[in-house]
Amino acid sequence: TGKDITCRLLVIGAGPGGYVTAIRAGQLGVDTVIVEGRKVGGTCLTIGCIPSKALIHAAEEFDRVAQLAAGNNPFGIAAELPTIDLARTIQWKDEIVSRLNSGVAALLKKARVKIVTGRARFVDGRTVAVETDVGTQIVRAETVVIATGSAPVELPFLPFGGDVISSTEALSLTRVPDRLAIIGGGYIGLELGTAFAKLGSRVTVVEAAERILPQYDAELTQPVSRRLKRLDVTVLTGTKARGRDGSGKLLVEGADGTTTKIAADRILVTVGRRPVTEGWGREELALDMDGRFLRVDAKCETSMRGIYAIGDVTGEPMLAHRAMAQGEMVAEIVAGHRRQWDRQAIPAICFTDPEIVSVGMSPDEARAAGRESKVGVFPFTANGRALTKHAEDGFVRVVARADNHVVLGIQAVGQGISEMAAAFGLALEMGARLEDIAGTIHAHPTQGEALQEAALRTLGRAIHM
Ligand code: FAD
Repeated sequence: TGKDITCRLLVIGAGPGGYVTAIRAGQLGVDTVIVEGRKVGGTCLTIGCIPSKALIHAAEEFDRVAQLAAGNNPFGIAAELPTIDLARTIQWKDEIVSRLNSGVAALLKKARVKIVTGRARFVDGRTVAVETDVGTQIVRAETVVIATGSAPVELPFLPFGGDVISSTEALSLTRVPDRLAIIGGGYIGLELGTAFAKLGSRVTVVEAAERILPQYDAELTQPVSRRLKRLDVTVLTGTKARGRDGSGKLLVEGADGTTTKIAADRILVTVGRRPVTEGWGREELALDMDGRFLRVDAKCETSMRGIYAIGDVTGEPMLAHRAMAQGEMVAEIVAGHRRQWDRQAIPAICFTDPEIVSVGMSPDEARAAGRESKVGVFPFTANGRALTKHAEDGFVRVVARADNHVVLGIQAVGQGISEMAAAFGLALEMGARLEDIAGTIHAHPTQGEALQEAALRTLGRAIHM
């Protein structure tokens, strides 16, 4: 064991929350140490956002050629049936991940952050013991940031292991399973389910709620449901997984109480993620909880002075960009800046086919919040660029205050529209009014014009509709 380390700031966990905190603090001259038990980059970079998008992209490429080969295209293109060597795909994905892992490590180094590899555990509110390969390293800090993230929820009657897998294992399969059962029709299950369906798996999704992606309204999810149907994905809503029979078949119970058996080569359980609030010595501290999450205030400070928490361990939405924004803010607070959480909206994207983007309030949420609102929808069927991409299913929807036309929310569903999230977020963060969006010259022909047209339509003066 080395000599004890004393620092100004200690960050526990190097996911998007933790590593951004450490880089920003380092840039501001704060003497910072970050502890990570696995690889820097955390869930997002190693087993979450990035690897899932790599797999989704490879599956899209495969499907594109498969559709051409099947003659399912209006372009007059003929192609041979594609094949995939999933082991190679996973190798490509792993290369991207390790490039990004090294990139984050280099950025931490450039910001003069010290990285300690090992599992951290609080001894008291200012002291942490890290179990490293070479023994216990004691780190003492004036300020600590807890950024321990989240982990997949396990079903007690379907524990992970063997053919029961979490998203982590699904992102490293080297063979496409013939039959894939997915428990949980949230965004993680459906993103992965869509990818494997495109790669040739026969996919069954089991969802307890009445519809898939229950956090989005039905108008937004309908194009996704239609596409899943065309991909031959069986979606069983109002259905609960119950366990397995003697031969290993999955037992599911429908809303009417009848039990069905599903044969599957792999059972992917994506029923949610739990904040990692255990395993790092929380019992040594006196931290208030907010349900299953750590309670934090508008500065991300916990109930103990000098101990902050950010990212998935602090609440919904459990998304990488929320963790990063909190991390940047906390670093600046530690460096003495006056900051607090004042964000207007956190975008959420579901990378299914088509993709769903939601920023701010939906019409239902505006109504529930008692806001009088105007809503305008512009479908991609009336957008030239969408037609040239053979991607006309979907729309952009704008929700604005009825009185002063300040935008409350923007949602969209459509192929490849995740890149439009930046424009939606900017509009909300700048407090844009419908007239601001309508008066912005949007480049033609782009799918982004649907945003301008949706704003115009809300004002009752759409041009192309
Ligand atoms: P994490 O990224 O979970 O990082 C926490 C880190 O802390 C881990 O590296 C862990 O090893 C470390 N740690 C924990 N305890 C200790 C300890 N005691 N000592 C040392 N280290 C410790 N989000 C998006 O925004 N967009 C997406 O497209 C997206 N796709 C996803 C796809 C999948 C399959 C999954 C699983 C998640 C996805 N997410 C996505 C969610 C995203 O990954 C998380 O919101 C994000 O990683 C949270 O960041 P974090 O810093 O809070 O925690």
